[in-house]
Amino acid sequence: MNEMTTLSYQQHAYSAAAQKSLSRKPALFINGEWVASSHGELIDVEDPSSGKVVSQIVDASVADTDRAVAAARAAFDDGRWSGLPPIAREKIMLRLADLIEAHAEEFAELEAIDNGKPKTMAGAIDVPGAVSHIRYMAGFAAKVGGETTPPYTLPAGAFFTYTVKEPVGVCAQIVPWNFPLLMACLKVGPALAAGCTIILKPAEQTSLTALRLADLIAEAGIPAGVVNVITGYGHVSGDRLVKHPDVDKVAFTGSTEIGKLINKNATDTLKHVTLELGGKSPVVVMPDVDVAEAAPGAAGAIFFNSGQVCVAGSRLYAHRSVFDQVVEGIANTASFWAPRPSLDPAAHMGPLVSQEQFDRVMGYIEAGKRDGASVAMGGDAPSADGYYVNPTMLVNVNPQMSVVREEIFGPVVVAQRFDDLDEVVKEANNTQFGLAASVWTKDASTLHKLASRIKAGTVWANCHAMIDVALPFGGYKESGVGREQGRAGIEAYLETKSVIMKL
Ligand code: ADP
Repeated sequence: MNEMTTLSYQQHAYSAAAQKSLSRKPALFINGEWVASSHGELIDVEDPSSGKVVSQIVDASVADTDRAVAAARAAFDDGRWSGLPPIAREKIMLRLADLIEAHAEEFAELEAIDNGKPKTMAGAIDVPGAVSHIRYMAGFAAKVGGETTPPYTLPAGAFFTYTVKEPVGVCAQIVPWNFPLLMACLKVGPALAAGCTIILKPAEQTSLTALRLADLIAEAGIPAGVVNVITGYGHVSGDRLVKHPDVDKVAFTGSTEIGKLINKNATDTLKHVTLELGGKSPVVVMPDVDVAEAAPGAAGAIFFNSGQVCVAGSRLYAHRSVFDQVVEGIANTASFWAPRPSLDPAAHMGPLVSQEQFDRVMGYIEAGKRDGASVAMGGDAPSADGYYVNPTMLVNVNPQMSVVREEIFGPVVVAQRFDDLDEVVKEANNTQFGLAASVWTKDASTLHKLASRIKAGTVWANCHAMIDVALPFGGYKESGVGREQGRAGIEAYLETKSVIMKL
C-alpha cells in the first residue's frame, strides 16, 4: 500500500457563491441574454474530486450555435464595439478585469470544483492570470495602428500610401478544460482589444467559470452580442463554429488531434486559424546544477496542475553525473504532490479532470510498465472516489516507448540520462512537438546554446512554465500555428489593409 492512500479524500463544503453557480438554470449567453437551447439537451457537470454530478450545462445544438454566430455577426457588422472610441473599449475591458479580480475567490473555487485543480493554485495562477490577460490587452485597444508607408515603385509625390489595421471580424474561440477561465480570458482579451466579436465555447467538462464570466461581461458594459458564450460538445457546437461561413477566425487551444481536424474543417471557408496544441516538453538538467533546486523544479514542471498542462515538462533528461540524484530529488517530492481534493487547503495537486482522462493516464502508465519501464515514483492511483493519480516517474525508458513519444497529459514524467550536449539536443528535438523546453544550468554559454538549438516556441532557463502575457506563446512543429500573447497575440486578431491613393 502506498503511504498516500492514508490521506483523507473527504470533500469540503461548497460556499454559497459556488452553490449559486452550480444551481443556475442551464442557459446559453447569446446577444446579451440568457437563453434556453433549441432542443433542451443537457450535459452533466462533475466535481472530479468526488466524481459526483454537481450541476448541468446546455449542450448547444447546431441551431443554437447558428444563433450565437448571427448575434456576433450583427454586433460586428453594425460596429457597436469596433466603432467605439478605443479609450471606451479600453475602459470597459479594464472594468471587466477589475470585476474578475473582485470575484477572485469565487472564480478560484468554481474552477477547483469544475476542473479538480486545487483552489489555492487557481487563486494563485488561473485567476490573476485571467485578469492580466484582459488588462494587458486592454492597453492595445488604442495602440494598434497602421503606418504611412512610402511606396517603392510608385512616384511618392503622386501617390499617398498607408496601411490600416482592422479587426478580423467574428471569432470562434474554443478553449480546453485545463485552465478554463485563464484560456477564455487569454482569447477574449486580444479579440476585444482588436474590436472583434466573439463566440466563446468552453470545454464541455469545465464551463462554469466561462458562464460566470458572461455575467461580468454584461456587467462591465460590453454591448450585447459582442461576446456570446455557448456550452456544448466539440463535435456539435465546436464543429459548427469551425465550419460556419459567417465566422472569420477560429482560435483553438486543445489537443493536436482536434487541432488538425479543426485546421482541415476551417479550410473550406478559409478562416484565419490559430492553434495552440499539445507538447512533450523536455526538461534538460546539466551537470553543474544545484540538484536541491533543479529536482523540485523538474517535479513542479510535470506535477503542477496534475500534468494537465500543454507545456508540462514530461520528458526529463538529466546528465549521467547527476541523474540518480535528480531522480531521487523528484521522488522525494511525492508527499508534497500527493493528490488531494481540490478544496483541501493543503492540496498542491488535485485529481485529473475526468474518468476519461484518468483511464487515459493509467493506460499510459500500464503501457510504460509493459514496455519495460521501471517505476521510480508513484505509478498507481489512491483508492478513493474521484480521479486521483499519484505523481509518477518512469525510468529505464527508451525513445520508442509510447510514454516517451506521446502526450500523456497527466502527472507522469519519463526520465532519461545523457552524456553530452549534442546527444541531449538530438533527443530533446526527437519529437513531433515543439511547444516548450526548460534548461537547468548555471553556465550562460550552455544555456544560450541549448536555447538556440532546441526547436520550441518557448525555452525557459532555470524555471519552467513561467508564462507572461507580454511574451508571445505558441508552438513549433505539431504544437501549433501562430502565436498568442504579446504584440503577436493582438496581431492575430487584425487584418492589414493597404490604401493607395492617386493624388
Ligand atoms: P481533450 O482531448 O484534451 O479533451 P480537445 O482537444 O478534445 O481536448 O478539446 C478542446 C476543445 O475543443 C473543447 O472545447 C472541445 O469541446 C473542443 N472540440 C472537440 N472536438 C472538436 C471539433 N471537432 N471541432 C471543434 N471543437 C472541438
